[in-house]
Amino acid sequence: MRSPGDPDLEVRGRLVRGLGALREMLPGSFFERKRSCARPNCRCADGKNLHSQFQISVLIDGKPKALNIPAELADTVREKIEMRRRFDAAAATICRLNLKRLLKEKEDRQA
Ligand SMILES: [Zn+2]
Repeated sequence: MRSPGDPDLEVRGRLVRGLGALREMLPGSFFERKRSCARPNCRCADGKNLHSQFQISVLIDGKPKALNIPAELADTVREKIEMRRRFDAAAATICRLNLKRLLKEKEDRQA
């Protein structure tokens, strides 16, 4: 059942169709830390040219963990964590639209 004139349904349909693109989403937060490797001859020894250490902070079995992420995976992992944020935002909008529809249906029945 489609009612092409309802902008809420169009928004909802667009959001739902976009969810498949977020299927690789990952939980947690992404961090980039700067650190020294402690080798005396390394470029990082001056304390300024530090190395990047990428990490994600996630809950595993309910406990917060920081996992190191190899540099070559950092961009991909960062994007996948961002997908989760977009998924949550889409879910919140879909729920808001559905609640609005429920309230409208309730009102129509009472009228
Ligand atoms: Zn170093």
